[in-house]
Parts: sequence; structure tokens; C-alpha cells
Amino acid sequence: MKYFEHKQGINDMEKQQAVENLVDICHHVQEKGLVSGTGGNISIKTGNVIYITPTSVALGKITDKLLSVVSIETGKPLNDITPSKEIMMHLLSYRANENIHAIIHVHSVYAAAIASMPDFIHDKTIPAYTPGYGLRVGCLPVIPYEVPGSMELAQSVATVLKERNSVLLANHGSVVAAKNLEKALDLIEEIEENAKLFFITNGKANPLSREQIQTLHEYYK
Ligand SMILES: [Zn+2]
Repeated sequence: MKYFEHKQGINDMEKQQAVENLVDICHHVQEKGLVSGTGGNISIKTGNVIYITPTSVALGKITDKLLSVVSIETGKPLNDITPSKEIMMHLLSYRANENIHAIIHVHSVYAAAIASMPDFIHDKTIPAYTPGYGLRVGCLPVIPYEVPGSMELAQSVATVLKERNSVLLANHGSVVAAKNLEKALDLIEEIEENAKLFFITNGKANPLSREQIQTLHEYYK
């Protein structure tokens, strides 16, 4: 296959496994209801290229042959599949933080809802209600609305992902970054569950304090 030709540090078999894993995670994300229609996009970095889901295809219908391959350095596609329109969000984030090897962006309902609440946009962060969320996500910021696919959105997201692993996009959804897809999936699911907790408790649940979250980090380090 064309996109297994880019040798950069890992061999073809590892690359093929990484691509198969990406396809499995795309299907899982749609089955879990974290996206609908053709929303959401997922990518992985191998060497100096990324494999990213294409534009206008539901994540549940992704196959290895439908993935777009893009140079991180030039931003140019290396095969004939058009990448997600949010390609710049992925590219700028990989360039901003070399520890990122996987990115998931979804429009999951509860996270998008909480990201659209005026109280949380600009300054405040989403509280942590559970230990798993407190450990992996912490206090999640919301960045102001920008047009999906725009350079402004890409730059805002990359600025946050340079420093932390997740961000909510006002009136849009969430983006997470991790060293592998499994960890990214954990993050995206934790965020959606935490956002759901916010709504089913009418925002009255007691969040973990900064000190409690700090204790968790010390306990599990
Ligand atoms: Zn989006």
C-alpha cells in the first residue's frame, strides 16, 4: 500500500499495526456514540507523517485504504485521499508538542453541551468529578468558538495542546492528544463521562479540589 512506504524509524509491520489500530479506534468511537454523521477526526503520527481520517466519511466506515497520509513538515498529502478539513488542527498540534503521537477530536453531546455554556467559555475550566478524570484530564479549559477547519481554531488548539492533553472547543466539541491512541481514547471517554455527570447532577455535584487532585497524582506516580 502506498502509505506504508514512508520509512521513518518504525518498520512496515509496526506501521501496518498502527494503521489497523487506528481503524479499530475509529469504529469504536462511532459505536460508543462519541460522533454522529461524518463528524470527528482521528490521527496518529509515525515518523514524520500522520495518518488521518478523510473528509466526509463517517468514522464507523473508515478502512485502511481511506486514510489520508500527510507530511508533518510540509502539510502536503502524500496520497490521493483528502484529509479531514481539520487537518491543520492536527498538524499544528503535532508540531507544537513532539510527545504527541495520537489525536482524537469528537463532537460528543455532553462535552459539546458543557463547552457551549457561557459560564465556562474564556476563563473557567470544567471541574473534575471523578478520580480517573482528575488524574488524566484535570481542570479542562474551554477555548472560544472559531470556525471549524480554520487556521484560528488550529492555532488555539495547538497552543493549549503544547502544554496539556485536552481542550474543549466552545459550541463544537473536544480534542485530546496522547502518546498513543489508547490513552487518547481514555481521555475522550473520561471527558464525555465527566460532562455527563455535570448535567445529570444539574451542576451541583461536588468537584474534586485542587488538593485532592494533587494527592491523586502523588499516590499514582
Ligand atoms: Zn469538529
